[in-house]
Amino acid sequence: MERYARQEAFYGVGEAGQKKLLASRVTVIGLGALGSASANLLARAGVGFLRLVDRDFVEYSNLQRQMLYREKDAEEAVPKAAAAAEILGGINSEITIEPVIADVNGGNISALIEDVDLVIDATDNVETRRLLGEACHAMKKPWIYGGALAACGMTMNILPEEDAPCFQCLFDNQETGGETCATAGVLGMVTSIVASIQCTEALKILVGSPDVRRTLLAFDLWTGEFDEMEAVKKPDCPLCVREEYVYYGKGAGSRSVSLCGRDAVQVVPDAPARIDFDEMAGEWQRCGKVEKKKYTLDLDLGGLGIKLFADGRAIIRGTSDTAKARSVYAEYVGL
Ligand SMILES: [Zn+2]
Repeated sequence: MERYARQEAFYGVGEAGQKKLLASRVTVIGLGALGSASANLLARAGVGFLRLVDRDFVEYSNLQRQMLYREKDAEEAVPKAAAAAEILGGINSEITIEPVIADVNGGNISALIEDVDLVIDATDNVETRRLLGEACHAMKKPWIYGGALAACGMTMNILPEEDAPCFQCLFDNQETGGETCATAGVLGMVTSIVASIQCTEALKILVGSPDVRRTLLAFDLWTGEFDEMEAVKKPDCPLCVREEYVYYGKGAGSRSVSLCGRDAVQVVPDAPARIDFDEMAGEWQRCGKVEKKKYTLDLDLGGLGIKLFADGRAIIRGTSDTAKARSVYAEYVGL
């Protein structure tokens, strides 16, 4: 147990707390800047089971802030969940790491969180976060919200307690106002701090500390302003009071979403499929340059490209028009 000696020596954890961490199970949703930092911290801290979920693959523009990945991961366009699991497996081989390369949606969220003690929110979009909030409310799981944009970070614990506010109590249906990490940018220092705070709170919750934070924390690292705001439950909250679910329990459904700042669209088929890469590669041969990789089959059509996963999900690059991406998908994958 020498590995955790410094953490055990800390009064808030101790030997008993470390045992609890080793017996704990956590899901991290999203493995971008926030998620890769969280996965790194939690694996090193000895959280016994980590499920790491992400739908995307590593790109060069990720390396500035997504702490786990290397140039070769971007060069080979490795799925983030696979790259993260491989790297963290070499850092702590005594814990169980389960990589999940998938889009998180109404069809799979329950399976991703039903057997864990806590969920770390490291999503990059409002819709997935709302789904996560609804699922955690329904399944009474604590989750830790984290967000970062430019030099600003925000985080809050959402606890499954009768009088505790949920995410909807604070943010209602408010969208982010159009600014994204692609337009406003984001600093790796900010995402690292948000993830550090999320993981500290995760440790407190997992060891049963009375010091779990009940406020919304927001800061601007550039101007140096730090703010702690009281979080209050809304008496008519549509989620934690009226229990109206917009996303949870609705199934996956066929859908296509434009990926933030990427000039790419993800298309998810109605139901997961089993794609035979060799057969598909044969069909694609006459259309463009085909490359079979470990987790994907790639088709280069010149201006457009298709990255097809074995479950039928695809990322169409070279367009942010979802209708166009769907027609490309229908033409070449046809599910
Ligand atoms: Zn609420």
